Amino acid sequence: MSKYDIIIVGGGHNGLICASYLAKRKFKTLILEKNTEVGGLANCGSTINSLSSKIVKDLNMNLIQSNKPSYTVALEPSNNHTVIEERYNDIIFHSTSADQESQKQFKSLVGKYKKFSSSLRKFMYNEPPRLKSGKSKDAWQLIKMGWSIRGLGKRNMREFLRIIGLNIADELEDNISNDTLKGLLAYESILGSNLGPRSPGTVLTLLYKQAIQEGLIFNFKKYERNEFLSSLEGMCLNQGVEIRKNSGVKNIILDGHSAKGVRLENNEEIFADIIISNVDPKRTYFNLLGTEALDTDFIRRANNVRAKGNVAKLNLSLREKPIINSLEENKSNAKFVYAPDINYIENSFNASKYNTFSDNLCIEFKYNENEIDANINYVPYVKNSTHDKEKIIQQSIDLLKPFIDNLNVTNATILTPNDIESKFHVTGGSWNHGEFEIDQLFMMRPFYGSAQYQTPINNLYLCSAGTHPGGGITGINGHNTAKKILEEHR
Ligand SMILES: Cc1cc2nc3c(=O)[nH]c(=O)nc-3n(C[C@H](O)[C@H](O)[C@H](O)COP(=O)(O)OP(=O)(O)OC[C@H]3O[C@@H](n4cnc5c(N)ncnc54)[C@H](O)[C@@H]3O)c2cc1C
Repeated sequence: MSKYDIIIVGGGHNGLICASYLAKRKFKTLILEKNTEVGGLANCGSTINSLSSKIVKDLNMNLIQSNKPSYTVALEPSNNHTVIEERYNDIIFHSTSADQESQKQFKSLVGKYKKFSSSLRKFMYNEPPRLKSGKSKDAWQLIKMGWSIRGLGKRNMREFLRIIGLNIADELEDNISNDTLKGLLAYESILGSNLGPRSPGTVLTLLYKQAIQEGLIFNFKKYERNEFLSSLEGMCLNQGVEIRKNSGVKNIILDGHSAKGVRLENNEEIFADIIISNVDPKRTYFNLLGTEALDTDFIRRANNVRAKGNVAKLNLSLREKPIINSLEENKSNAKFVYAPDINYIENSFNASKYNTFSDNLCIEFKYNENEIDANINYVPYVKNSTHDKEKIIQQSIDLLKPFIDNLNVTNATILTPNDIESKFHVTGGSWNHGEFEIDQLFMMRPFYGSAQYQTPINNLYLCSAGTHPGGGITGINGHNTAKKILEEHR
């Protein structure tokens, strides 16, 4: 019987990053991953642009940041595409059908959001405060938040508070005249969520994204996915973290009200002082822990957490490298988005509310040689039924055809949110391990009573995208959980 200081259930990127921080401080750490490979949902990621630079620096990660300029291309049926390049202090329009005035409006709105998001940025790396805890640390956190927002200045603070609960569609309609530019920003604010542009709180989701991505929205690619994942795994191994793959955890073993180990699916038991779950919160509570250990009110709240995936992953192999109509070859290091206007996106979202998908799917993709890697919105997670995958593939190809004359598909694979749920063991195949909505954010993430990376069980912590600050390949959840454990178990 081996004994570890820490067991992390799940080798997603947050589990690996959490392990790395803890191993650096000499905690004997074991990661148990159910799949044959680590990385979890990050294996679906096409753009590694949210990974925190702080974490890369702290962990001394040996990653080479791409220095090639990257573009975001909003595809337009007229083939007069909008090509933008986002730099730290400017957005450059390389081509667009939008007039000068609309470009100015777009830049000004993104600039305003950048300013607002900067007041949120520092709270991304801290556990959210707990209201009414009576602890000075929490009170101090709340005061700092207030100051940070007040620091925007009176006019900006008022504006920030006015827009924070708004839907992005209203904001865009009030501020930008060009449909393509509105579509592009609306798309970024809903990506990965179960929200449409007219859903309340979609301005906040965009601000969060900007806060996490150091003020940027469109800078689409920092690192190569495979390089990132293999370097992260290698780094953990070098630090002495033990990683066991093909080792699904059946349940967490309790001693009274404290976690003391895990039981694997083959019934092997492994013990540790601290257990961290990189599995989404719902699965952690209902599958790994079981309801007997939890009180009724807590179970009700955990049960009410919404986690409905809405993004399908599509990979297309082509006979030849695609040529995007009317796009200069030197702009092909790009994320291509087809979400032409707000109503198109909203209609697509509307279908997903009824658990079906519309003819008007939104697509984002990139390509490398003759491989296209695409995310398709909105393909909803469905219960007690399945989607016609061939139909989704065909619809997606039909949507791409007008933009790529030489689109000859030799092979196509798709993972719907249901497939993602079974392949990566994530409730609802949810991008964020739990919806990214105003009542499931910050001190309410994943839900009231389970925030701050803690659980009601002693020595059991959460580190997945289901915790603050949410999903995406950021590593921040893993960082914050490790920070909390290091504070509590000096
Ligand atoms: C289709 C799709 C595309 C995406 N594209 C992007 C993108 O381009 N850019 C971006 O920033 N984000 C993207 N995301 C979101 C991002 O990938 C996730 O938010 C993030 O990777 C979650 O990481 P995590 O470590 O918290 O959890 P996960 O990656 O889900 O890791 C959890 C791990 O736990 C393991 N596990 C589960 N149950 C058990 C068990 N019982 N025993 C042992 N192990 C278990 C799983 O196998 C998994 O490896 C995408 C998400 C989806 C669904």
